[in-house]
Amino acid sequence: MFRINENYLKLGGSYLFSTVGRKAREFQAQHPEVEVISLGIGDVTEPLCPAVIKALHEAVEEMGHAESFHGYAPDLGYVWLRECIAKNDYAARGARITPDEIFVSDGAKSDAGAIQELFSLDARIAVCDPVYPVYVDSNVMAGRTGAFDAETGRYGGVLYMPCRAENGFSPSLPEEAPDVIYLCYPNNPTGMGISKEKLQNWVDYANSSGAVILYDAAYEAYITGDLPHSIYECDGAESCAIELRSFSKNAGFTGTRLGFTVIPKALVRGGVSLHDLWARRHGTRYNGAPYIVQKAGMAVYSEEGKAQIREQIGIYQKNARLIREGLSGAGYTVYGGVDAPYIWLKTPGNMSSWDFFDLLLNQAGVVGTPGSGFGPSGEGYFRLTAFGSPANTEKAVKRIQSL
Ligand code: PLP
Repeated sequence: MFRINENYLKLGGSYLFSTVGRKAREFQAQHPEVEVISLGIGDVTEPLCPAVIKALHEAVEEMGHAESFHGYAPDLGYVWLRECIAKNDYAARGARITPDEIFVSDGAKSDAGAIQELFSLDARIAVCDPVYPVYVDSNVMAGRTGAFDAETGRYGGVLYMPCRAENGFSPSLPEEAPDVIYLCYPNNPTGMGISKEKLQNWVDYANSSGAVILYDAAYEAYITGDLPHSIYECDGAESCAIELRSFSKNAGFTGTRLGFTVIPKALVRGGVSLHDLWARRHGTRYNGAPYIVQKAGMAVYSEEGKAQIREQIGIYQKNARLIREGLSGAGYTVYGGVDAPYIWLKTPGNMSSWDFFDLLLNQAGVVGTPGSGFGPSGEGYFRLTAFGSPANTEKAVKRIQSL
């Protein structure tokens, strides 16, 4: 009999955003007169900034001439981009990351899904709950679904670390150390940031227990307060942490695709360099982000690029403030939205997340994301994103206020 990978059958239902999209489409088909506003999926709405567009045009032109044509990009990314990242994202923040510790990729989602390949199938994985679904689903697909095995003393499967209002959406350090800990700050979906002191606690914990932290900093550009932008701002993070970064939310590359992963050479487990393993993996499974896209990424770090993307981020930050203040003024309990483009609200009257989704869609024509779709501790919460246009965001807030 043909044997498929049965781990896929253990995945919970369809991917959250497919269900949200399907419900929104069904509603729109039944109510063509309603202008449905989506503050659901975390996709940007502002176009690429002029500096990026200019770089793309120039790179496309280069590709049309034999003398400036580029074929396969280097597996790990062009050195000029890696040097630029090391300087701007790390050295400028006092973090010691060298260009050869940076792996350029086509975005943080691919890397967030693939990075678990570095770990044993019986590795114990810990995630914050609610969680960006990719961390859990990629581990389930790989087969990390088992429970504690008394004979071997090993765990399989995924440990959920609850994050709710009662603990300030910040989990305590697990008593029994996992092998791998996924942290995402500023957080999707709760929109909460982490202080340097708390992040340092995680780093110290990982260094003393031997755990590896997978730190997803896709939203660092939204930090307004005095919070760490990179885990490598913490002492000792080079020996316990991998960092995932993206150009999607700071520079609007959701459809252009660019990101990078940092694996310091000091990160060694079981006598093996995780940097070397990932380099090996990249060499086998990845042929590099496109030249024209890496050139566009360079433009993000130019003086004009920096100013232009700052302006775009400012638009989304203003949306976040509008949602946060508008909804709390209307009596909702809201979290996040200060250092992240996500607002996490408590559903009114203890409604379930999906009931609130239906209410909002049917009575306000607004699409959000049910918190329960991000994990059990997301039940009773609801996520709105600040990535809509300012006009739509304002309209959506007014509609919710008048419910
Ligand atoms: N990590 C987190 C926490 C995200 O929320 C997202 C996208 O929503 C990603 C990674 C994906 O980023 P990219 O577009 O670079 O794949």
